[in-house]
Amino acid sequence: MLYQRSSALFKEAKTVIPGGVNSPVRAFNAVGGTPIFAKSAKGAYVYDEDGNRFIDYINSWGPMLLGHAYPPVVEAVIDKTKEGTSFGMPTELETKIAKLAVSMVPNIDKIRFVNSGTEACMSAIRLARGFTKKDKIIKFAGCYHGHSDSFLIAAGSGAVTFGTPNSPGVTQGTAKDTLLANYNDLSSVQEIVDANPNQIAAIIVEPVAGNMGCIPPVKGFLEGLRSICDSDGILLIFDEVMTGFRLAKGGVQELKDVYADIVCFGKVVGGGLPVGAFASRNEIMDVLAPNGPVYQAGTLSGNPLAMAAGYAMLKAINEDKGLMSRLEEKTKYLHTGITEALNKNNVTHTVNRIGSMISVHFSEERVIDFNTAAKGNNDTFKAFFHGMLDRGIYIAPSAFESWFITDALTYQDLNETIAAVEEIAKTL
Ligand code: PLP
Repeated sequence: MLYQRSSALFKEAKTVIPGGVNSPVRAFNAVGGTPIFAKSAKGAYVYDEDGNRFIDYINSWGPMLLGHAYPPVVEAVIDKTKEGTSFGMPTELETKIAKLAVSMVPNIDKIRFVNSGTEACMSAIRLARGFTKKDKIIKFAGCYHGHSDSFLIAAGSGAVTFGTPNSPGVTQGTAKDTLLANYNDLSSVQEIVDANPNQIAAIIVEPVAGNMGCIPPVKGFLEGLRSICDSDGILLIFDEVMTGFRLAKGGVQELKDVYADIVCFGKVVGGGLPVGAFASRNEIMDVLAPNGPVYQAGTLSGNPLAMAAGYAMLKAINEDKGLMSRLEEKTKYLHTGITEALNKNNVTHTVNRIGSMISVHFSEERVIDFNTAAKGNNDTFKAFFHGMLDRGIYIAPSAFESWFITDALTYQDLNETIAAVEEIAKTL
């Protein structure tokens, strides 16, 4: 495959955009090589500026659950655009999508729309602090909740320590209020809670992690978090930016029957336009401005194009009773095919999968948290990534990402993907 035009465009982009990209992972730093520049996308495929076609397993990092340029979403956006693109005034459509979301997701009364997953998580934390009148939060090493300061904290010398910033610009003052636990490890959470009595506002967690590859919660983990929160007056925040409206129409709360106090959304909820949201029961949402003192706002929040796309997307998901099982079947088929292809060629690996999320780790050990995810062989991943790309299969350019399965994928696409894995496996 040739990437001449992408290469030239990347060079040019770097002269005016830091690193040539508007979000770092797009630069291919983890895998090397030239990022491909997208020109268009339709259904399961993305087309680049050199005229190459790729079967897309990134899907804009999650939103395109029903495939690219999904006609009802495209039509809704085109129609809305003709009526004006933003008013900064309330619209009927905002109530319509809010009602639909509240009807789909268990245990929420009200939802507020923002412009990204980062904003949703950042606002959820402020809300939790305002509601509980406590400052500290617990997050898990390897979970990503966007790029706001409180979340850019890496595991320091162990789970039960104060966090240290992992980006210059995040102050020690901010970092000291973010405490780090290990995913799927309740005792690491309990230790932090015991060491910080009556000081923790919230535990924020990806209820299925997708930012260290795909890591489902082990049995009892989410239930355990719920009961620690209940015992200590802590709010449980599910960051369902990746999983919301994807793993079930009501997200992981519905799938696992464990309920959070605040839920964050992004990606699918916007149908590919910039949308995030956070939701909770009345008692908590009522402390939010203008009803209560916790401030949160946005010039373009709830703007009509984003709401039209989101509404069309949620409606389609809500009405398609067979969607989740179709997605799961496709993901399972891919899992089986990849495992067989890699096993046949003695490539050490582990595949994690749940619903329409899947990740391939080049390590023998079961991947259940950041430490085990980090043991994957990165050189093998790089070779695998470039082998796939050269065969027209676009997976995330980092071993720490989940693949997203879309309903637009056909079994022929899946077979093509498995055949590519088999060819590459011979070379690994
Ligand atoms: N939370 C999770 C679980 C995510 O995966 C992401 C983005 O990948 C975010 C929050 C941040 O969302 P955004 O990139 O829309 O700001």
